[in-house]
Amino acid sequence: MPELPEVETTVRGLARYLKGERIERVLLHRPDMRFPFPPGLVQTLTGARVTDLGRRAKYGLIHTDRATTMVFHLGMSGRWRIDFSEPAKHDHLVIETASHRFALHDPRRFGFVDLVDTDALESWPPFAAMGPEPLGPGLSAGHLRDAFKRRRQAIKLMLLDQRIVAGLGNIYVCEALFRARIGPRKPAGTVSRPALERLVPAIRAVLEQAIGDGGSTLRDYARPDGELGYFASRFDVYGREGKPCRPPCSGTVKRIVQGGRSTWFCPRCQK
Ligand SMILES: [Zn+2]
Repeated sequence: MPELPEVETTVRGLARYLKGERIERVLLHRPDMRFPFPPGLVQTLTGARVTDLGRRAKYGLIHTDRATTMVFHLGMSGRWRIDFSEPAKHDHLVIETASHRFALHDPRRFGFVDLVDTDALESWPPFAAMGPEPLGPGLSAGHLRDAFKRRRQAIKLMLLDQRIVAGLGNIYVCEALFRARIGPRKPAGTVSRPALERLVPAIRAVLEQAIGDGGSTLRDYARPDGELGYFASRFDVYGREGKPCRPPCSGTVKRIVQGGRSTWFCPRCQK
């Protein structure tokens, strides 16, 4: 599933070819993905100039000079193809500029697209209650302390709550808790201030490392087999059940289930 770093890589890759360009043609190859394409999508985008691109949580944002932003979500299997020679099955939406072609490709169709007034993006329903961006200035130890106050829920689950931090997925929560040496089952309200001070840079570091690994172009982003490239060998705990922890620790990575999802951690390093 595309996580925040993949969405960021996608947005940066699209921006290289799309920012400042005029959209000349928009094609829909079906009426819907996870949801129907919004009414007026083709008319609104055709002839519009892309002023900028951005990201909020795991949503990509394509801003236009028509005061409208096209929001996209990649769902489970979505990705953008660029400058393809042949149209492919599962290319649901195609955008053409004078010199490039982009296709939103999504075999499982959990992804979707919406059109939102750029001025009203913050109140668009999925964004309205969302917490701060993990890579932005809104995430701080003080924010986490306030959000966790008197909460008994495990810190792992609280970090997956989009109202507390936007866009953090399972991989990066596991990795950040390892780096910050915080046990995933610890009740959020009992995590010490120094631990929260370690957690914020740990979250940023794991995301930034993944963004760096994702490469700087769309061509690098998807492997030739079309699968999203995860760099599992670089994870310290995620997916490493039974494997040795990183030296000098002599512990073994353990897997537990929290909230129906796996958590990997080192019981020796993470208290
Ligand atoms: Zn360890």
